[in-house]
Amino acid sequence: RPVIGVLALQGDVREHMAALTASDVEARTVRGTVELDTVDGLVVPGGESTTISRLATLFGLMEPLRERIAEGLPVYGSCAGLIMLADKILDPRSGQETFGGLDMIVRRNAFGRQNESFEAAVDVKGVAGGPVAGVFIRAPWVESVGAEVEILAEHGGHIVAVRRGPVLATSFHPELTGDPRVHGLFAGMVRERIRTGPR
Ligand code: GLN
Repeated sequence: RPVIGVLALQGDVREHMAALTASDVEARTVRGTVELDTVDGLVVPGGESTTISRLATLFGLMEPLRERIAEGLPVYGSCAGLIMLADKILDPRSGQETFGGLDMIVRRNAFGRQNESFEAAVDVKGVAGGPVAGVFIRAPWVESVGAEVEILAEHGGHIVAVRRGPVLATSFHPELTGDPRVHGLFAGMVRERIRTGPR
């Protein structure tokens, strides 16, 4: 079984662990480079991207993660995790950095101005069996994507799910609904990477 880590610096780590376990993979928390080197894929959870950025630097994970993602480590980010995987933030807090991996520009708290939190049915390309219930909590949206980034879902005219090769990101939190299909999609991407490429 593939081993998928959850970056456990801050955020809803436990919910992602449960969703991964439901997707028939071995889930493991990652707080340092030793653990990072044992996983076939990594989830960056929802939470607060400025805090995740600060703690990743503090724990010495910023550069190693950038390198691993650039080398092709499969990663999936939800909400704050999506922000961490963006090459560029439109409105970063001072000092806020990202791991990158997706050639796109994100706007933080984009949906949050009208609605602190809401749920909406979202059709996600690659996820069969009908729309997923997307939970949006002070969620970002993707302003624009580069040519290599595929748009998997939109909500209200805004991009809310994207993929480039082994990198997946959603504005919403599928880990909060008990529906493991998005994690299943990511688990499939990790299995594909194990079959076709070096870790
Ligand atoms: N607004 C948060 C941020 O900028 C993301 C919120 C979330 O992950 N639910 O990091």
